[in-house]
Amino acid sequence: ADAIARYTAANPLSLAQHRAAAQVLPGGNTRSVLFSAPFPITLTHAQGCRVTSLDGRSYVDFLGEYTAGLYGHSNPVLRQAIVQALEGGWVMGGHIRAEQELASLICERFTSIELVRFANSGTEANLYAISAAKAISGKPEVVVFEGGYHGGVFTFAAGAPGPLTAPFDFVRAPYNDCEGTRALLDKRADTIGTIVVEPMQGSGGCIAADRAFLQMLREWATAHGALLIFDEVMTSRLAPGGLQQVHGIEPDLTTLGKYIGGGFSFGAFGGRAELMRRFDPTQPGAFGHAGTFNNNVFTMAAGAAGLREVYTTSVVGPFNARGDALRERLNAIAAEARFPMQFLGLGSMMNVHMHRGPVRNVRDLAQSIQALRELFYFHMLERGVWLARRGMINLSLPLGEPEFEELEAAVASFVSHANALA
Ligand code: PLP
Repeated sequence: ADAIARYTAANPLSLAQHRAAAQVLPGGNTRSVLFSAPFPITLTHAQGCRVTSLDGRSYVDFLGEYTAGLYGHSNPVLRQAIVQALEGGWVMGGHIRAEQELASLICERFTSIELVRFANSGTEANLYAISAAKAISGKPEVVVFEGGYHGGVFTFAAGAPGPLTAPFDFVRAPYNDCEGTRALLDKRADTIGTIVVEPMQGSGGCIAADRAFLQMLREWATAHGALLIFDEVMTSRLAPGGLQQVHGIEPDLTTLGKYIGGGFSFGAFGGRAELMRRFDPTQPGAFGHAGTFNNNVFTMAAGAAGLREVYTTSVVGPFNARGDALRERLNAIAAEARFPMQFLGLGSMMNVHMHRGPVRNVRDLAQSIQALRELFYFHMLERGVWLARRGMINLSLPLGEPEFEELEAAVASFVSHANALA
């Protein structure tokens, strides 16, 4: 209560802005994930690795727009590409060269993607990939995993499906549980045609899948005429060819999004040529795939420039290694203080959990201490650290050692504050 009172007093302009927004947007909101009671902070600008609020406070950006902000703010190379695109005109209603450039860069990096199609969001990419897999396999059921997230209408947190779940025949299986999942698959082998999995659950709390679990899904799908889709919308940043490259496991289709569009609206789905050719308009009975903005000039230009010149394959490894090192440092703070907290994740993605002990799926987090995580969020904001309310942290390229030290100091101060309260 104290933390919220201080938050409210410190952000009066954001509160007023929220009240105005609530007159015309339900709950003042157009992205559920950004809502935080009593009201969210409004941002006005961003530069490098910092964002500034309407109330004039500056924060170190450790949210990285839920992984889409990998390049940080106003990267000069991307900026140049965007300005050039701006000068050439936009909404042209025809093909542009940058769409081939971005597609080539993606196909070079992801060995399982021979052909790719663009969309406007990760949600849309999954919508098309799942629809295509269902049509190709000829079987109606789509396996997803507890704690999985593939977009707003593809949210599979624990409990009953939400009222807005997309109208597919979804079957929910336990993540990272080979036996449980295999039993479910075997029981419905005649009707399951699609399996969609995040190789690390991002929204679920940065819970990585075991290689053996993914390998089991791969083998089962091959043996039973089902298509395996890896949703790498978030995890594509973890290696040049995504987490599938790390594991050496090739899905039939992959969905992408976030940073690959250079910070603009983006989604993509791709896979083996034999499957993706179904979208080739010269083929009889080709699948339709449209979208006014699928090849929008800013996304294509910024995305291609980013992969070609900024997040080059040689940058990917060291960048993610810095994330691993930071996570270890943060976990050492918790361990030293014997505090029930851990930072889970891989490379440049992590999520704090107020929980001791191993976490292999969202069921393991049932006992984590939610109130502490709330306190953590408000404490971080007070210390000038911008992050997701659910405790997610994603590194961006401009973040360096000074910011890592700021984060460490904020986390250490949270631990001593929380210990004093207990
Ligand atoms: N898939 C995963 C794994 C995601 O994390 C997200 C977004 O967070 C999506 C799909 C949806 O992407 P978008 O928000 O671009 O629709």
